[in-house]
Amino acid sequence: MALAHKSTRKMAGPQTPLCTALLIDGELVNGQGRVEPILNPATGEVLTQIAEASSEQVESAIFAAHRAFSSWSRTTPQQRANLLLAIADSLEQQADYLARLEALNCGKPLHLARQDDLGASVDVFRFFAGAVRCQHGQLSGEYLPGYTSMVRRDPLGVVASIAPWNYPIMMAAWKIAPALAAGNTLVFKPSEHTPLSILALAPSLAQLLPRGVINIVCGGGEGVGSHLVSHPKVRMVSLTGDIVTGQKILQAAAKTLKRTHLELGGKAPVIVCDDADLEAVVEGVRSYGYYNAGQDCTAACRVYAQAGIHDRLVAELGSAVSSLRFASKRDADNEIGPLISTRQRDRVASFVERALSQPHIERITGAAVHSGAGFYYQPTLLAGCRQNDEIVQREVFGPVVTVTRFEQLEQALDWANDSEYGLASSVWTQNLDKAMQLAARLQYGCTWINSHFMLASEMPHGGLKRSGYGKDLSSDSLQDYSVVRHIMVRHGNELK
Ligand code: NAD
Repeated sequence: MALAHKSTRKMAGPQTPLCTALLIDGELVNGQGRVEPILNPATGEVLTQIAEASSEQVESAIFAAHRAFSSWSRTTPQQRANLLLAIADSLEQQADYLARLEALNCGKPLHLARQDDLGASVDVFRFFAGAVRCQHGQLSGEYLPGYTSMVRRDPLGVVASIAPWNYPIMMAAWKIAPALAAGNTLVFKPSEHTPLSILALAPSLAQLLPRGVINIVCGGGEGVGSHLVSHPKVRMVSLTGDIVTGQKILQAAAKTLKRTHLELGGKAPVIVCDDADLEAVVEGVRSYGYYNAGQDCTAACRVYAQAGIHDRLVAELGSAVSSLRFASKRDADNEIGPLISTRQRDRVASFVERALSQPHIERITGAAVHSGAGFYYQPTLLAGCRQNDEIVQREVFGPVVTVTRFEQLEQALDWANDSEYGLASSVWTQNLDKAMQLAARLQYGCTWINSHFMLASEMPHGGLKRSGYGKDLSSDSLQDYSVVRHIMVRHGNELK
């Protein structure tokens, strides 16, 4: 296995060295597979080239994790917590650098990557360091005469974690922290589009953790990804990605009966009642329908507006959305970034084109590719949309929000639930009774009331229906990355 040398570190700017080495069995090594360019979506320029893991390297990574499991799984929660805290400290110390990489590799505004993505990632490691020391569960006792039963919660073995491109370092934190905290070892695969931030953290992870406990391999889904998913030594696959990818992973995992943890797409309904605080709705949808250029599985993208507020909402939201700032040379001016690739931008554009070919759909603002450099698409608001329209039913994953008018709340509830997705939703009203009834009946993993998008490390995040299953964040996630076991002791002779 070739060791990575300094020469593999290309510079994207005077202060931003790029790490391109994979982490396998405690060593930083160059990939030996296909070489792929890594782009800056804000400019289209090639930042560096990264060689994917070869098939032999994927095998080495899996076997390294398998070997490391025996001792890592026997560490105490305190020992693992201390290491997670050390990772959090390291992330925090490198936060400016990692945020710059996130901004370069995703095109995100730097100030937002620094404040949101890095801040949340550090917190996730600290949360799981605490949570793993505070687990509790069922009672031990004598459930058969002469026997004592007790329940343990143990790790599973090697986990393959496969991440998307929308929040690279944060998705890595969501996957790595609970899996390690629970005592598993890992092979982590970032998205082929956005490996830079986790590769930059790899040297610190190699220093902090025993060899083999975490391995990082780069590569595409069909090659490196499916190798991981089909490998018999991998006991669990955790994916955040598209529904179709989730389906492929389920099929492949079935052969070896692996556990799966699937966080798939979303199409969040936003129910706006006549009595909602209009200003708050406009501010909320402007922020959380378009954050990260709408490349967010919880994006507030499917607005249902009651007839009494509908016209004012469309007018005010239209002007608010057209004021969103992007593609400025001055980072602090930007509120959103570009799409991740030309492919994703063209996909968004074709959704909007098809929507606007319907006579009932009205363009309020946007609906065009941005004319400058980079993969930007104008923040877009479409009104007059109907429940069966493709643009209302399918995840666009871009800066596009639709508005649909409704009369009765029962109607809005039916439409909101009439979706293959079940990740996130919100209700906007000043009437708590209405809010609570709607929240109780929405078939979504999360419902916000008079808000949207807010996540806390302590609270579970995950979907229903085709948005997948399994929870990220929270102590529920620790349960997903571990298994309950029963230990039963037969008593000896009667006590004398
Ligand atoms: P994607 O499904 O194309 O890729 C996700 C990851 O899966 C990548 O690392 C990719 O290489 C890998 N992959 C692809 N095919 C594979 C295969 N056959 N076997 C193994 N691995 C494979 O998704 P994306 O385009 O990177 O991300 C966007 C999607 O992710 C959207 O649908 C979005 O909603 C979803 N997402 C969901 C959540 C959530 O919490 N539910 C969060 C973020 C993103």
